[in-house]
Amino acid sequence: MADGSAIEWTDATWNPVTGCTKITAGCDNCYASRFSERFRGVPGHPFESGFDLTLRSERLEQPLAWRRSRMIFVNSMSDLFHKQVPTAFVDQVFDTMERADWHVFQVLTKRSSLMRDYLLRRYAEHSAPAHIWFGVSVEEAAARSRIDHLRQAPAAVRFLSLEPLIGAVGEMDLGGIHWVIAGGESGPGARPMHIDWAREVRNECARQAVPFFFKQWGGPRPKSGGRELDGREWNEMPVSAAA
Ligand code: SF4
Repeated sequence: MADGSAIEWTDATWNPVTGCTKITAGCDNCYASRFSERFRGVPGHPFESGFDLTLRSERLEQPLAWRRSRMIFVNSMSDLFHKQVPTAFVDQVFDTMERADWHVFQVLTKRSSLMRDYLLRRYAEHSAPAHIWFGVSVEEAAARSRIDHLRQAPAAVRFLSLEPLIGAVGEMDLGGIHWVIAGGESGPGARPMHIDWAREVRNECARQAVPFFFKQWGGPRPKSGGRELDGREWNEMPVSAAA
């Protein structure tokens, strides 16, 4: 776990799983993959096995040791709903999140139907606790079905991560969605984000009264293009976080 994070919309990261496999166009320049593979074969390094999926049981209870409340991005270096993560392990991650209810957990996935199915089983009687937020990545219009999967999940707070935004998303139904983050890709070979795509998302959020967070333009480095869209920053948060 890392206390403090360069990611603008969270405070810390917690990685009880690392490693993943690419499944969609948004994964093409995956930062986690690039970072992890750099250390493949380095004896004793946490990423000695590169980006191979790895369960890290020793980290399962780490958030319980953090007494000060913070927003924690779960599995910034993986995807909790990867099919190689055993359900019993996902259960343990959820057990910790439920116990550590003084934090806010942000669970983000591209395996949206698997997350929905898990939540429908775990929270068959009532919604997931409000301090666990659930999000899906939507990088272009072709991935919009993930929004429907998220809406079908019994979550109290649902969010979208439109990053890296690599194409227009088009018309979105934001019913039941509480927060939208958008941002461009960064790193080597970053695919540029067109200003019209970002504006369209912001305007949809305004029209449907959903908080909008503009993370970055992207480019060779995360801060290359700054964070302003049409002359200002957009740092809106879900109502539950602002309260
Ligand atoms: S799902 Fe996420 S962590 Fe996995 S390869 Fe794609 S971008 Fe990387």
